[in-house]
Amino acid sequence: MMDLEQIKQLDQKYYMPVFGERQPVCFTHGEGVTLYDTAGRQYTDFFAGIAVNALGYADAGFVKTVSEQAAKLVHTSSQFYNEPQATLARALCEKTGMDRAFFANSGAEANECAVKLAKMRAFKRGKKTANFVALKNSFHGRTLLTLTATGQDKFHEPFEPGAYNWTYIDANDFEMAKNAINADTCAVIFEPVQGEGGVLPLSAEYTRHLAALCKQHDALLIADEIQTGMGRTGTFLAVEGARVEADIVTLAKALGGGLPIGACLAKEETAAYFSPGDHGSTFGGGQLVCAAADYVVGRMDGNMLARVRALGQYLKDALCALQDKLPAMIKEVRGAGLMLGVELAEGIKAAQVRGQLFQKGFIVGTAGANTLRFVPPYVISEADIDALLGALSL
Ligand SMILES: *Cc1c(COP(=O)(O)O)cnc(C)c1O
Repeated sequence: MMDLEQIKQLDQKYYMPVFGERQPVCFTHGEGVTLYDTAGRQYTDFFAGIAVNALGYADAGFVKTVSEQAAKLVHTSSQFYNEPQATLARALCEKTGMDRAFFANSGAEANECAVKLAKMRAFKRGKKTANFVALKNSFHGRTLLTLTATGQDKFHEPFEPGAYNWTYIDANDFEMAKNAINADTCAVIFEPVQGEGGVLPLSAEYTRHLAALCKQHDALLIADEIQTGMGRTGTFLAVEGARVEADIVTLAKALGGGLPIGACLAKEETAAYFSPGDHGSTFGGGQLVCAAADYVVGRMDGNMLARVRALGQYLKDALCALQDKLPAMIKEVRGAGLMLGVELAEGIKAAQVRGQLFQKGFIVGTAGANTLRFVPPYVISEADIDALLGALSL
């Protein structure tokens, strides 16, 4: 087995230089919320591989499902019927109130499907535009279309002209939304809590305002729940909290328990705008990823969601108490369920605090300009949270 230095040298020589200097660790295995590295050190994980590993590591049921399915069939293509794909589609529709599903291989691809569906619908209804609305600070993916949808200039410039026409509006600004959404708009895409942008929640009133404007102008509302969905904020979908029903919902991150799968879910009247040949994927919806996702979705029952809410509140209360104690360090605590952000005061760098926590054996993320991001596996415990807070308050 290689040590960290050898792996690092290979990475720096052979991997495309898009990730730069990574955090100085290579994990070899995990159990529950604990990760182990090449040197045998252990870490408590509040990052979950960017909000992916909701069940933690080496979950027994997950391992059993994946190994049994891998031994049977991994992939057969979309030319044939597929039981795990059909049962996963049913499970997701039952959980979300949507009527139909399409499976892709990533979040960005799920959003591509959503935007293409909205464009197809607009086209078939005689709206001859390609106008879409997205929010500033949003993140929707790295494909050409989804990076154009992403409302952050730094992603656009070198790749211009991008795909379709996007108007970016300030989150929670009612007037700006009213001015941007009109009869030429095909769809509006939003994250209920902006993840990569800095853990920035939209208000329920604003979300309902977006939904009403979409209705008024015959545009679709696309909820990008790639990070917020799958119970992350304490309900299966975050939009449930705002009492909004989107026309299209996308899921990915936690869906496959770490295996790559994205889902685009739509109401019947919307999905009906796709005809055979309009969309597809070679790998999307294969037996292995679908069996894995079906297992993970099955674990997101009432007990699990209650756990996310309770532990999320416990972590949030602890972070707020820390803010009271250290007002010069913490500017704001935000988020819902087990998706929490701590914006640090100017002069204290989030990446530096992340590095200090790493030294103490805790993995956390960063987001936005200067925010620590906590998106742990749902199997995190109060004792793990107490330990993190101990490390943070020193
Ligand atoms: C991560 C993320 C994406 C992109 O997902 P990929 O699997 O990296 O393509 C899109 N939208 C949101 C809200 C995300 O958090």
